Amino acid sequence: MSLFETEALILRTYNLAEADKIVVCLSRQSGLIRGVAKNCRKLKNRFGASLEPFTLINLTYFEKENQELVSFSQTEILRSRFNLSSDAAVMTGFSYMGDLLLDFSPPRQANDNLYRMALACFDAVSQTPADLDWVLRYFEVWLLKLEGFLPDLRQCANCHDAFNGEGSVYLGPDLSLRCSKCSEARGRSISRTVHQQLRATEKVSPVKYAEEAREVPVASRKELAQLTYQIISRALERMPRARPTFVQ
Ligand SMILES: [Zn+2]
Repeated sequence: MSLFETEALILRTYNLAEADKIVVCLSRQSGLIRGVAKNCRKLKNRFGASLEPFTLINLTYFEKENQELVSFSQTEILRSRFNLSSDAAVMTGFSYMGDLLLDFSPPRQANDNLYRMALACFDAVSQTPADLDWVLRYFEVWLLKLEGFLPDLRQCANCHDAFNGEGSVYLGPDLSLRCSKCSEARGRSISRTVHQQLRATEKVSPVKYAEEAREVPVASRKELAQLTYQIISRALERMPRARPTFVQ
């Protein structure tokens, strides 16, 4: 049996037996882990409010060889999201990000870039709940990028000419981007504004990205949301479980 300590973001919990919970979290050092928190539903328990979804904690756990579920030993709250728990839109957005992390990241594989990106997005929404939609778009684009599903945004996949902001860009059925000449205007056309919004995620933090995107017209917001939805559905080979905004 080994003992581990890591920072972790609680994504989801399920009741188990009479007084326990199964807790799913994204940890910095071990990636996605599932563990049992014994007796955490008893009135007096050592976990307190630390297992509430989307709380950032310091986690100590035991792991036995060949067992999928680890055993939670100690937790310490680093950041609570309790003040947002009555904001239904934010909670739906958090759940959506949590679902995508579960869908895309394989269990027990540490991915520091993914962890830091996800945490930055949860923190950005906590800081400015009104920017939720833009932070979700940022999260989706980065998740696709880190998991290898985002097309090259800089150049045509066929002729390798750099996209210079003139002319249309097309998303092909193979999820690659082509210039108008190479695509022969087939596939999904992507507007200049949306292409710029995709590129903008590469350069800044989610807080800054959302701030700078506030003036982007609603039509472009919808277009970007539909585009990321299409790429995610294709990557997952099904629809995402829930989608909070702008798609329908
Ligand atoms: Zn081309």
